[in-house]
Amino acid sequence: MRVALLLVLLCLAGCAKDLNGTEPTTQAPKPSGPSLQYLGVGGWLLHWRGETLLLAPSFSNPAFPPVFVKANEQRIDDLMPDARDAKVLLIGHAHYDHLLDVPHIMRKQAPQAIAYGNEEAGHLLAGAGLKSRFVNMQPKMVTVRRGNRAKPQIVTQDRWEPNGAFRFMAIESQHAPHIAGINLLEGTRYREDLTQLPTYVRRWPGGQTLAWLIDLLDEKGEPVYRIHYQDSASNPPYGFPPILQDGKRIDIAIICAASTDQVQLYPDALLDVIKPRLMVYGHWEDFFGNEPSRPQLIRVQDENALIDRLKANYPEIKQVMPYPLTYVPLPPPESHGKGH
Ligand SMILES: [Zn+2]
Repeated sequence: MRVALLLVLLCLAGCAKDLNGTEPTTQAPKPSGPSLQYLGVGGWLLHWRGETLLLAPSFSNPAFPPVFVKANEQRIDDLMPDARDAKVLLIGHAHYDHLLDVPHIMRKQAPQAIAYGNEEAGHLLAGAGLKSRFVNMQPKMVTVRRGNRAKPQIVTQDRWEPNGAFRFMAIESQHAPHIAGINLLEGTRYREDLTQLPTYVRRWPGGQTLAWLIDLLDEKGEPVYRIHYQDSASNPPYGFPPILQDGKRIDIAIICAASTDQVQLYPDALLDVIKPRLMVYGHWEDFFGNEPSRPQLIRVQDENALIDRLKANYPEIKQVMPYPLTYVPLPPPESHGKGH
């Protein structure tokens, strides 16, 4: 009941706001060097050394407020770029706006990709017959807390999951509430594999939210870029990277702009810790009824205040808010061992 009321209030809160004072960048055509391609919501394609890594995209945009959800296959086919060279698909959590379109994309646009995610994602993908192409990363997740204390783990190389020109690591993270401190989508978690995909929106529980550390490797297997990715805002220290003793800094932070006002110090505390060279906004555009060619800011959230704050407080970090389906070139590589 409370959830239904909140959905109505969210609906009454009005339309998404037009962009104002922000600086989305559009890079077309595709840059010749390595790049991030924003797919909208939590979706990205990382282009590196002829390979592609896919971060769970979402195109279906069910009507607002979403109650029953189903992948819009025509819309996915129209918008999702060809990703047949993607061998990896990383999933941060299993809510419908991150997982609903994944089964169709795994069959059609990314037919080689293995999906890596949490237990819920595995149970749900089983419902689409894709369990054999899924790896549960929750057992290998790097934790950020001990009891009630924040305690970064010092991790060794064996926590990396290698795959071609990439390797990646799952980090314990957290899902921000959607509104008024409440997570509207957190229904009961599954204990076993499904036999078909659910349609009721709350039957897509997020599960344990994962942040990802992703290395882009050279021919010798050494990291050239290190990327930190979150598909949900979180309270510190959730999502914070572990201590890695290889001297490689984090070059790029992909943050989640949605619901930053529902948590403390996001992404500021993270930026203070990882000091990236480049920060890109993900999940920044209003999700409902939106067209990628005409993105608008999220309803009931003052994103311009977030943008202004980050610009003022982190002048040394390049900050980019890309339009959906455009490219962000990676900065030139730094020599290994430089940085903090
Ligand atoms: Zn979510």
